[in-house]
Amino acid sequence: MKFNAPKKRFGQNFLHDANIIGKIIDFIRPAAEDHIVEIGPGRGAITRALSYQAEHVDVIEIDRDLADALEALEWPSTVEVHRGDALKFDFSTLPKTGEKLRLVGNLPYNISTPLLFHFLDSAELFTDMHVMLQKEVIERMAAEPGSKQYGRLTVMLAARCEVEHLFNIKPNSFTPAPKVDSSFARLTPSAIPLVNAEIYPTYKQVVTAAFGMRRKTLNNALKGLLDTEQIEGAGIDPGLRAEVLSPSEFLLLAEQL
Ligand code: SAM
Repeated sequence: MKFNAPKKRFGQNFLHDANIIGKIIDFIRPAAEDHIVEIGPGRGAITRALSYQAEHVDVIEIDRDLADALEALEWPSTVEVHRGDALKFDFSTLPKTGEKLRLVGNLPYNISTPLLFHFLDSAELFTDMHVMLQKEVIERMAAEPGSKQYGRLTVMLAARCEVEHLFNIKPNSFTPAPKVDSSFARLTPSAIPLVNAEIYPTYKQVVTAAFGMRRKTLNNALKGLLDTEQIEGAGIDPGLRAEVLSPSEFLLLAEQL
């Protein structure tokens, strides 16, 4: 099968390194009965390895040329190709018998944050999500409070899931080689999320405001949302900065709103 040249606008950097593909599969450990959904299958590097082990793999690909090429290939198990934008995909249409999904993707790095938020919106549908992204983004996702990488993305993900930074990948494992290092991570939605669906919009509002003004104290950053008394009412020092607050402390602030 001949594939078209990689398209930059779709963030196409195809994995060609068999060791890395093997490592990805070792971490995912697909089982025959798993219902897997892969975002951006590209030329099928990960899809093929998945389809040797899982009986049903749904793939979502925006590039019609690639989707055509994938459909024309022979697969060891059922691979269903969905053409379209993963950002708009309704994952609730996939489970046939109420089973949970396992999400996998070497994601297009140019839309990484909106994609992660879209997955989070359906977190209850997934057992886990294994994603490859630029290293710097994965470091932000898994950061500890007080560290340089800790920010809005970390705190918003922590509301719904646990994040594990699994391993790093050098640019020469891809064609074409990206300009940045990459990492692979596992996101496991919590059975009982730290932040429930009801309070989630308020939590998001507080977190966005708090990190919107980095280097400002909570007292200043949250002006208009929470006053000094309310911040103190949550047991938090209004003179602190957002960067040092844990996700649970952001929840306490949201509860004051
Ligand atoms: N999985 C392949 C691999 O590892 O070699 C390809 C990974 S490449 C980094 C990202 C893939 O996502 C490309 O195939 C690209 O066309 C696809 N893609 C980009 N934007 C997308 C979107 N919004 N929805 C679905 N697929 C998208």
